[in-house]
Amino acid sequence: MDRPQIKKLVIVGGGTAGWITAAAFARLLGQRLEIELVESEAIGTVGVGEATIPQIIRLNAILGLDEHEFLKATSGTFKLGIEFVDWGRLGSKYLHTFGDTGMNLGNVAFHHYWRRSCMGEAAPDPRGLWDYSLHLAAADAARFGKMDKVGNTAMTGLAYAYHFDASRYALFLRAYSEARGVTRTEGIVESVQRDGASGDIRSITLGGGRQVAGDFFIDCTGFRALLLGQELGVGYEDWSKWLPCDRALAVPSARLPTLVPYTRATAKRAGWQWRIPLQHRTGNGHVYSSGFISDGDAADTLMAGLDTKALGDPRPIRFTTGRRHAFWSHNCAAIGLSSGFLEPLESTSIHLIQSHVSRLIQLFPRSGDAAAMRDEYNRRCAAEFGQIRDFLILHYHQTAREDSEFWRYCKNMDVPDSVTHKRELFAASGRVGRDADDLFRDASWVQVMIGQGIMPADYDPMADQMSAPQLAEFLANLRTLIDRSVSGLPTHADYLARHCAAAEPVDAAA
Ligand SMILES: Cc1cc2nc3c(=O)[nH]c(=O)nc-3n(C[C@H](O)[C@H](O)[C@H](O)COP(=O)(O)OP(=O)(O)OC[C@H]3O[C@@H](n4cnc5c(N)ncnc54)[C@H](O)[C@@H]3O)c2cc1C
Repeated sequence: MDRPQIKKLVIVGGGTAGWITAAAFARLLGQRLEIELVESEAIGTVGVGEATIPQIIRLNAILGLDEHEFLKATSGTFKLGIEFVDWGRLGSKYLHTFGDTGMNLGNVAFHHYWRRSCMGEAAPDPRGLWDYSLHLAAADAARFGKMDKVGNTAMTGLAYAYHFDASRYALFLRAYSEARGVTRTEGIVESVQRDGASGDIRSITLGGGRQVAGDFFIDCTGFRALLLGQELGVGYEDWSKWLPCDRALAVPSARLPTLVPYTRATAKRAGWQWRIPLQHRTGNGHVYSSGFISDGDAADTLMAGLDTKALGDPRPIRFTTGRRHAFWSHNCAAIGLSSGFLEPLESTSIHLIQSHVSRLIQLFPRSGDAAAMRDEYNRRCAAEFGQIRDFLILHYHQTAREDSEFWRYCKNMDVPDSVTHKRELFAASGRVGRDADDLFRDASWVQVMIGQGIMPADYDPMADQMSAPQLAEFLANLRTLIDRSVSGLPTHADYLARHCAAAEPVDAAA
């Protein structure tokens, strides 16, 4: 049966998900589709989501955004990775960086050479893996600059992402989208009308009676999942038994005196606390498990852990980690928090928005006859969620901590076989058993496994091809290169001031 062409796209929700979706569709399918976005100021947005991963650079390139203008408008800063404090054990610290550590040689990843050096034929090298990290050296010195590779060597340079103010980001994308023809409608969706035969959504009705009709709907209504969850009845797969945090308290504080180029995630008694440096303020939040700590104690923990003066009271957010059984049903796809939520530990939610939007655009049907595209979309989104879930579980499960009920639970919980397999493979051989399309690269798995306390029992025998003196010289040269490269970089604060100072002056409180 011939189904009608899809001409009108309705996006419900104007948080980060709604406006990224609107901007990308306007840019890539704007000539073919009429796009209307409905949002409600009375309901508002979740208001968090300020740290990203490097894939956002690709989104900006697709949208044609100028990086410096983007950072000025969102009061953004650069991010080289996430510093994990007290995760593997109390007192431990490591940086999960966005780049390689040291320098890979041929097919052999650097950590195998490092592992060989600390097993040491003659004199074991006492240095840690991060002594060979360009990113850590820059992060520790609070320096930043553009560096694709290190000098004339094959060593990769600084890989980075951004921190930005979530509300300014949504406003920035709104202006971008409206300039490209997206219509914004203010109103609260009160009811949904469906086609009696197909069950497809035909229109939504807003308070006051206005109807907005469409051929395809994107549910960006946040945790409410108004269309896909509530109206179409797509259920939710709950992953809290592996990722037990279910609440957060968020509070801004004054700008950090030294603007460091990384997010900090400090493990606490029953969860963890984030610190995100922005140009005009610092974003902070305590993510915790309500089964292991009261809301009052969680708020006290947050406020006691601030590095600068609080600029407000903690704001509570509740969530359940997991995902929808399907991401697209009938003529409706859910993007953003409505599709599922993997807690913010590795800043993956904005990336998931971006990857779902680009996948949806790649598979977007010309007409309502979309079963094959829908199945493929659901298959790929489910795989992506599962891979990120495993990476997050590793952070909680791979720990020596037993100092609280929460950490004893995490250490001893049953985890998916896919996580156990990766831990065992790495512990035995230093090899990484990630899927080919996993978002996180080998270097990420290696850093988190070593950072959380797995020391591989062996290394790749190909790393033996170098003689012991050659290996020592290689490692010494790397350290010299890193020191020299980092000392030539400007401070992060100077780089921002020179190229992307925030459009508004910094808060007086700072
Ligand atoms: C504690 C926490 C920390 C996070 N930190 C990060 C991070 O560091 N990095 C990262 O990548 N992600 C992070 N995230 C996730 C990130 O915040 C979200 O992915 C992102 O903000 C997208 O949210 P959203 O647009 O899906 O939902 P929301 O921001 O909740 O927007 C929902 C929209 O739907 C509208 N709406 C809802 N119901 C109706 C209705 N009936 N009628 C009309 N409109 C309606 C609302 O008005 C709003 O515009 C974090 C999330 C949490 C909970």
